[in-house]
Amino acid sequence: MPNAARHSHLRDLDYSVVQQCMHCGLCLPTCPTYDATKIERNSPRGRIALMRAIADGQLEPTVAFGEEMYFCLGCLACQTACPAGVNYAELFEHARAEAEQSGALKSPRRNLIRTFALKWLFMDLGRLRFVSRVIRIYQRIGLQFLLRRSGVLKVLPKRLSELEAMTPVIQAQFSAELIAPVTPAIGAKRFRVAMLTGCAQDPIFSNVNRDTVEVLARNGCEVITLPKQSCCGSLHAHNGEWGLAQELARRNIAQFPPDQFDAIITNAGGCGSHLKHFAKLLADDSEYRERAKVWDKKVKDIHEWLIEIGIESARHTLRSSRRESAPSSLQEKSQSGLTSAATVQESETTVVTYHESCHLCHGQKITAQPRELLRRVPGLKLVELPESSWCCGSAGIYNLIQPQMAGELLQRKIQHIKSTGAQIVATANPGCLLQLINGARNEGLNLRIVHPISLLAEAYRQAAGTPPPTPP
Ligand code: SF4
Ligand code: SF4
Repeated sequence: MPNAARHSHLRDLDYSVVQQCMHCGLCLPTCPTYDATKIERNSPRGRIALMRAIADGQLEPTVAFGEEMYFCLGCLACQTACPAGVNYAELFEHARAEAEQSGALKSPRRNLIRTFALKWLFMDLGRLRFVSRVIRIYQRIGLQFLLRRSGVLKVLPKRLSELEAMTPVIQAQFSAELIAPVTPAIGAKRFRVAMLTGCAQDPIFSNVNRDTVEVLARNGCEVITLPKQSCCGSLHAHNGEWGLAQELARRNIAQFPPDQFDAIITNAGGCGSHLKHFAKLLADDSEYRERAKVWDKKVKDIHEWLIEIGIESARHTLRSSRRESAPSSLQEKSQSGLTSAATVQESETTVVTYHESCHLCHGQKITAQPRELLRRVPGLKLVELPESSWCCGSAGIYNLIQPQMAGELLQRKIQHIKSTGAQIVATANPGCLLQLINGARNEGLNLRIVHPISLLAEAYRQAAGTPPPTPP
């Protein structure tokens, strides 16, 4: 029986959002989960029907409802395909919040993991940095190597050893150690921008943050990067923690008052998609509502911003860079900018292909700008990736909670990458970077997986005769 008294995310949602779907089915061929199962419930149309039934009071959130919402990738391919303009992003966030609020999926283990990750670790990035440093020690003193060689992992539950294998390489230096709080523009200052260094991006890909700041400075931007920042909250919003996402949005606005900057820059597709909708998140907050509207207009993805202001050319051909020692893993190779057989060779054209982060292309509709940026890098030839906007299976923490589906999507992506003959795969989201690095490693592929901005930063350094920075 419907419980009319219970506060409900979906029932309280603007009904014009809930009832917009006209059941045409045009989104179905673009949905990876429907493509895999051909079950209506696993399609955007089926999920929206479930959400509407709850909004209409005809259905209570059940375990099946909650599981369905977490089987959805949140990739938003359906939103791009929909001719009726259904706002699936909003529906999806409220549907997961509904599932959490109802407690349908509660279990002691799940509650513990969610409390640790969402309520503790990602609410204070100092804690995330501390945990990352512990993992770094585990990796660097050889404990990880020993554990993997000893066979101990084989006696652990299969899922635990799979998760251990996915542990990313933690960098020695995080963003605050690589980037000054204020980086002056190189040449005439044209803009003053803020740079968000992200949560997981900071310990895993601080080099991408450093490269982003360097490129911004070379394009006339003074860059402000606070050493202590907050998570943007997309992880929380996408996992049903609406209240925590609101708190993090307020913190971000307070840390980077939007009226003080020409732009607030993010280089992560998933974060950018969320950061541009703070006004909706804080619509009922009289203190932050107006500032959130200004914030939304100022947030820019790095590719979007550079194309908007005009990219300074990297005049000379990108050549091989040299280093003393070789990095030991694919991720380190991707982070370091080190060249190899799989990277840019002197006087040769190197084939690069581009995988689109779902939340950059479907969430923010930014598709041409990253390609344009890659075409501006001397020595690279961009070859289109078949199904470039089809999810790679990373999808936030989807590869952790839905390993089978995520693995199938990764396989599909890797086969397409192989078909291009590319030596470099560029992608602009830390989750996609990690997923593709793992996929390439599992297949034994000698591929460099890299953020587009790092390729441009390398081209600038080489044009200027600046030696490559020490890998973090
Ligand atoms: S967000 Fe992606 S997985 Fe979810 S319904 Fe839409 S297309 Fe399907
Ligand atoms: S979500 Fe859009 S494309 Fe999909 S069935 Fe509804 S109206 Fe059609």
